[in-house]
Amino acid sequence: MFVGVHPLAGFDKLLHYRVPAALAEVVAVGSLVRIPVGRRITLGIVAQVGPPTDFPVDKLKAVVDAVFPFPAVTADLLGLARWMSAYYAAPLDSVIEGFLPAAVRAGAAIKQERMLVAGQALSEADVEALERRAPQQAKLYRFLAGQRQPLKKSLVLRRLDVTPAVCTALVRRGAIREESRRVERVAYADEFAATEGVATAAPELNPQQREAVGALEGALAKGGFGVTLLHGVTGSGKTEVYLRAIEATLRAGGGVIFLVPEVALTPQTVSRLRSRLESIAPDHRCVVWHSHLSEGERLDGWMALATGEARVVVGARSAVFAPVRGLRLIVVDEEHEPAYKQDESPRYQGRDVAVMRAKLCGAHCILGSATPALETWANARAGRYGLLRLTERVDGRGLPHIQVVDMKIEVMRQRGAATLSRKLVDAMYARFERREQTILFINRRGYSSSMQCTKCGHTEECRHCSISMTYHRTDETLRCHLCGDSRPAPVRCPSCAAPDIRWRGLGTQRVEEAVRRVLPRARIERIDADTMAKKNRFRELLGEFRTGRIDVLIGTQMIGKGLDFPNVTLVGLIDADLSMHVPDFRANERTFQLLVQVAGRAGRGDRAGEVVVQTFTPQSETIQFSRHADFDGFAETELHVRERFGYPPYRHLIHHLFRGPNEEKLRFYAEQWARAVEQAFGNRLEIKGPSPSPIEKIKDQYRWQLWYFAPSASRVIGELNQLRENFAWPDDIVQMLDVDPASLV
Ligand code: ADP
Ligand code: ZN
Repeated sequence: MFVGVHPLAGFDKLLHYRVPAALAEVVAVGSLVRIPVGRRITLGIVAQVGPPTDFPVDKLKAVVDAVFPFPAVTADLLGLARWMSAYYAAPLDSVIEGFLPAAVRAGAAIKQERMLVAGQALSEADVEALERRAPQQAKLYRFLAGQRQPLKKSLVLRRLDVTPAVCTALVRRGAIREESRRVERVAYADEFAATEGVATAAPELNPQQREAVGALEGALAKGGFGVTLLHGVTGSGKTEVYLRAIEATLRAGGGVIFLVPEVALTPQTVSRLRSRLESIAPDHRCVVWHSHLSEGERLDGWMALATGEARVVVGARSAVFAPVRGLRLIVVDEEHEPAYKQDESPRYQGRDVAVMRAKLCGAHCILGSATPALETWANARAGRYGLLRLTERVDGRGLPHIQVVDMKIEVMRQRGAATLSRKLVDAMYARFERREQTILFINRRGYSSSMQCTKCGHTEECRHCSISMTYHRTDETLRCHLCGDSRPAPVRCPSCAAPDIRWRGLGTQRVEEAVRRVLPRARIERIDADTMAKKNRFRELLGEFRTGRIDVLIGTQMIGKGLDFPNVTLVGLIDADLSMHVPDFRANERTFQLLVQVAGRAGRGDRAGEVVVQTFTPQSETIQFSRHADFDGFAETELHVRERFGYPPYRHLIHHLFRGPNEEKLRFYAEQWARAVEQAFGNRLEIKGPSPSPIEKIKDQYRWQLWYFAPSASRVIGELNQLRENFAWPDDIVQMLDVDPASLV
């Protein structure tokens, strides 16, 4: 038997090996094997079975051993790795390495316990002989012969006070056997166990849910690849629909991957899923997969899936690579979330990878959201994806009332910078009096500043790209990050000539101070990047908020995801413009998503919710559409703009970043390269730039960038990458390609 193996050793090449007879039964496509490469032994993944065509087989070296008696990478994952390597221009071995927990890659043995059990029975005469000759052995033999189950070796030896050599002698005789058993660590067992406020029982479906579930069950029963967009307003019971589809899949013996944007931020969803899934399939564990797992826990979860012990995994982005057997269903919850995009190589988009994996193994993929990504929406409208809709909240309530406050008026009224509008202050005060709770959202600020007039709300946009211009302090210019167009920064507002064009941005801290001034007796907590970095602090804060020990919670939109607090009756968005005027063509989409999702957090219990949105541009279409959660209206308007400028979903975008210590040189090479691309591609590719990147310099490394627009990324990326590899780059310039970037900043 011969195999072609991809070594996991930092290079992209298929090497052939002979498989010794002893390993023939366990080595197959997808097996993780140890192989000799040069003088080293490294790990590799078997990619094909069969002899090489261009090399004499008698010269082949042999596979040393197989790490597991089962494939570490399933056949569909191998196909997925090839696709990702080509589509995201990433080396194949690095992609495959990303599929395996570090402990597996390190070739570490799984933590095992040695167990002892009785072997072939000895006759009474033999035992007596043994007693005289080797009393210790006889003692151990008699003890084990009286046991029904394997016992831990260390315990037995300690209890009988015998040495390991005694044990070895008996094993050699066959009188006892030594076995190893894998030690199970229960990954985050209590953390995601069913806790307070988490309903386990299945509610009766409402008619819309029933229809959606029926359609999905039909698709699952038919089998084969398909994608369904489940568009349901916040609180419409999408999770319940996923659960029924999962249930149907498990009953039919299939495997499931359930993706959420960030496990650490959605503890409730995960607990709820886990308890329900474990009640659906009590004989199967539900593996939870996330970034806080220890290596040991990750390995255990991975092993449970790879061996078929568990058939369901719930996890963030990288769980899409879990070695689930018989995969039949992939659910991507909140599919619009930018968190699905990985921002280091391989720069993959988890949702797109999920669809591709479903295709490769003939599974169904459900993409769910209240605010689908326009890319997904375009696919549904074109009929490539099925579309199911839930238009009503399960509790029969209307969506919360959204009030838009014009901050221009507030600035005049308060005679200067205003953080909290009177309306918001009054509403918070009323909540405090009634012992109800408030969440204030302040969206994360970009590092780049855009200017906005506080009199008329005007912001400067690029004429060619329809995105906000960015202010560059160093040379007092406004610049477009897409095409590089620049002009001097205005001193007065270009629209109304008012003199104060303010610098944008309020931090969570400023907001906290403002709230303390108006509600000195309230208990106020802030969740920011620092809090998020501490694993337990975030959970603690959520716990305190749930039990009502906190009146006002302030944080970025990250805290809003999937949280369900019945006592929250007021949600405030401090500055809607922050996300609307980031220099990105997705700015409107992100703002719409933010507003709708944030509003969905209010009034989840039996009390009605109120939402206050502060903005300098209350008349903007995005804000108006989000007031009524009018996704269709928003999508239609926004798709027109996208089409006009040729942005996704009408074309694909590829980002090319160049980095180096010498700016002149960097610019020179970026320009040379742009010319080479122009010559090679002609009008098959539109190039914008080169221009300095939004962060012009990091750690003494200058950064320049290019943008490519193409009707199909897969059709150009291979050629582009080839061109890149053959281009004469100097040693001190590093460059990176990002296909389908999540944002422009
Ligand atoms: P979404 O994900 O669409 O925002 P969820 O799935 O979180 O909505 O559902 C919101 C709440 O409604 C949850 O607490 C869920 O248990 C409950 N729920 C879902 N479906 C039903 C139903 N048919 N009847 C009663 N309650 C339901
Ligand atoms: Zn431009």
